Amino acid sequence: MKSIFRQAEGECYLCALLEQMPRYYPPSMLEEHHIFGGPYRKASEKFGLKLNLCKHHHTGDIKGNKDAVHSPDKNDYGDFLMRMAQSKFEETHSREEFRQIFGKSRL
Ligand SMILES: [Zn+2]
Ligand SMILES: [Zn+2]
Repeated sequence: MKSIFRQAEGECYLCALLEQMPRYYPPSMLEEHHIFGGPYRKASEKFGLKLNLCKHHHTGDIKGNKDAVHSPDKNDYGDFLMRMAQSKFEETHSREEFRQIFGKSRL
């Protein structure tokens, strides 16, 4: 399924949110991030809980990975996206459904 989030063409969700430059990436420079990974990756796909991110915000780039959602060093971006995705999911589903599908509530 397509992402349920509105994103402009060429946009990294976090760059746009943080109002960082650049605001447009060519498709080859954007990566698809499944907001709930590991055992929940398939469910993320099924419900469209995924976003396009630039390399810097996804796994890190030559500047390092402190701003990346997959950084081994803890930052708040991954958790922030999970809470945001759960809120969006709960616009059309119950919290109990969320728990059953994604293990636990993050809100
Ligand atoms: Zn970005
Ligand atoms: Zn990812």
